[in-house]
Amino acid sequence: MSVNDYPRALSADCLIPLIPGVIFQFYRSRNGHMQFPYLEGGGELLKHIDRVQLANDAGELLEHLTGNEYPKVMSAIERSARWMLPLTTRFKLPLPNAKSHWIAVCGNPELSGDGVLWTGVMMDITDQVIEEQRLRKLCDTDVLTGLPNRRKLMVHLAHLTSISTRHGTPLSIMMIDIDHFKLLNDRWGHLQGDEVLKQLATEMKAHLRCEDMVARLGGEEFMVVLPLTPLQQCHKLADRLREAISRHDFGVGKGEVTLSIGVAEYRCGEPLTNLIERTDQALYSAKDVGRDCVFLLS
Ligand code: GH3
Ligand code: MG
Ligand code: MG
Repeated sequence: MSVNDYPRALSADCLIPLIPGVIFQFYRSRNGHMQFPYLEGGGELLKHIDRVQLANDAGELLEHLTGNEYPKVMSAIERSARWMLPLTTRFKLPLPNAKSHWIAVCGNPELSGDGVLWTGVMMDITDQVIEEQRLRKLCDTDVLTGLPNRRKLMVHLAHLTSISTRHGTPLSIMMIDIDHFKLLNDRWGHLQGDEVLKQLATEMKAHLRCEDMVARLGGEEFMVVLPLTPLQQCHKLADRLREAISRHDFGVGKGEVTLSIGVAEYRCGEPLTNLIERTDQALYSAKDVGRDCVFLLS
């Protein structure tokens, strides 16, 4: 093979429209005006945006960002400009008449005129983000019941306890265990036992507010986390739930599935393990005093 047999390198003008991404220059002046003096590339993204408009004013694109996306992108820009460090972020860009796209941005800043000029690339990472979300959900979900699992619950609980400590707001939890579930399995079989667990998950969700989280800790044990809920209110809710379940027919006869529930309220600043231990003790006490009841530890 001679050198002449190799494909000839294209000029940048021919090459850039073929790449699966966008090359950009983004400028922010000292007074905060933003624009894209250069925006070229291939792929879907450029088909949906007005390059001429963005060359004069990038505000049009940034205004489309919703929820947390706008402050996230602006603070990444701010950080990069202040410390002259590479700009790296990702954001969800809603597009008119098309589904939203996830965009990854990477750019190097330099001082230019009275502002900062970034030169970099933007890539459409929508498929990658969808796959990440699918895997995250898989990691956080109990396969049998579809409820959040212990891992997800612990992250959520850690987040809520820090809010509770910061703002002094009440937070209560319930530890729930099915009574004599081994006997139910022995009598009805493991598959019917699984069916009970699934139905119980549905019933519990139906009795809780959407801001509460019910998770399967493992086996026949569940935990409910109730933000902005003091102990007495949690106790009432737990008792209503216990009663509703004891009256529900899970296909094994009414009154055959009952719950023991321990409840406790978070004490400002206490370690998470403490709270869980106290709730566990309350659950053991509920078992001790005869099951199908709620025990409260104040
Ligand atoms: P207690 O009232 O003291 O809680 O008695 P229990 O029988 O409910 O408690 P124990 O810990 O002795 O037994 C729990 C049972 O839960 C045994 C186990 O086979 C069953 N179990 C755990 N996970 C599953 C599951 O995913 N499906 C089914 N069908 N059973 C499960
Ligand atoms: Mg148990
Ligand atoms: Mg049990």
